[in-house]
Formats: sequence, C-alpha cells, structure tokens
Amino acid sequence: MQKRGLLVVVSGPSGSGKSTLLKELKNVNPELKFSVSATTRPPRANEIEGQNYFFKTVDEFAEMIKKGELIEWTSYCDNLYGTPKSLVEDCIKSGKDIVLEIEVQGHENIKRIYPESVSIFILPPTYEELVRRIEKRGSETSETLQKRLDTAKKEMLCLEQYDYVIVNADIQKAIKEINCILIAEKHKVSRNENILKDIGLN
Ligand code: 5GP
Repeated sequence: MQKRGLLVVVSGPSGSGKSTLLKELKNVNPELKFSVSATTRPPRANEIEGQNYFFKTVDEFAEMIKKGELIEWTSYCDNLYGTPKSLVEDCIKSGKDIVLEIEVQGHENIKRIYPESVSIFILPPTYEELVRRIEKRGSETSETLQKRLDTAKKEMLCLEQYDYVIVNADIQKAIKEINCILIAEKHKVSRNENILKDIGLN
C-alpha cells in the first residue's frame, strides 16, 4: 500500500523570516512539494503568478469557494487567502510530502480536516527583530504596518496550538531542525502501519 505523504503546515508572523526559510528549504529538499495559495492581495514587486500565489479578484476567489476548489480559506489583513485542494490531495495520496505556508486560522482548519498533519510555528529571534524586518520590507503603509504588527502579536499567542516551534535566528540551523522534524514524523509507528508486512512478517 502506498504510504501517505506528510501534510506539513508552517505558520509564523510577518517578519519571522518564514518565507526566506521556506525558500531555502525548497532548495535543499527538491523532493518537497509546496502548495501555492490563491489570494486577493495584489502582487508585491518580484512576486510571480502561479509561483508565489494565484492572484485572484474577489469574484474569482468566491467562485473557487463555490466550486469547492479550496480546502480552507480565511481573511487576513483585509485580503482573502485560500489553499487549493487538488495539489494537496494528489500529494498526500501519492506519498509526496507537501508544505502549506498559512496563517493560524488556516492551521486550525487544516488540523480539523487532516488531524494527522504536522504543524510547525516559526518565531523570530526577538520581537525587535520582527519589527525591524517588517519595516525594512517597505511594502507597507504605516496603517498596514501597524495592522501586521498587531496581527503578528496575536498570532504568536496561538503558538500552543502547534506541534513544533522553531526560532529562526540562523537559517541553516532552522532548516536542519525542520528536516529533523520531518524525519521523526515519518518514523512514527502510527505512520508505518504496514511495516511488519513490508519486512516480510506474515
Ligand atoms: P502575505 O500577504 O504576507 O504573503 O501572507 C499573509 C499571511 O497569509 C501569511 O501568514 C501567510 O502564511 C498566510 N497565507 C498565505 N496563503 C494562505 C492560505 O492559503 N490560507 C491561509 N489560511 N493563510 C495563508
């Protein structure tokens, strides 16, 4: 029987360095799949359609919900974000591991639908560093900046809903830690129900 792939949820506030970390994780683990979300947020400079996000109008997003194409969706800082169903389902069924970079409400929904999913929360090395990183990004107006800082604080208080936490001070160390988590999860007895049969014990 085909072993199911891991569904890995990674969350962390803006400024935790989560996106850079996941980009590097992708480079070092080319076999890992990454979900591409749909969003109504306008693209930032350097963001590519279909790579960073599928950029949608509110009507297009509503149509995706109506057609049942999203596993979960949420409103975050006045924009809609959602996880397309097809890639996630295909990966899990075909034994490939897939990573979802989503916020805390999305994680809550995913855990309900896929209780076997693994969740990792990324923290910045310090709160001051988080503020500095968001300000440096420069893509925010002072109003959206304040909103993101408030949201970041609220999100960090959801830490206890997650399985694992990583403090992202050193990117290479953080990558190693994520890989250790993925390896440990794959070795759980509950994920290896056919192992005795596989080794030839009848
Ligand atoms: P950003 O606008 O900075 O790219 O993303 C804002 C937040 O939305 C981040 O915390 C990101 O992880 C989250 N996000 C991205 N895609 C999804 C999604 O499909 N579902 C949910 N629930 N959150 C998402």
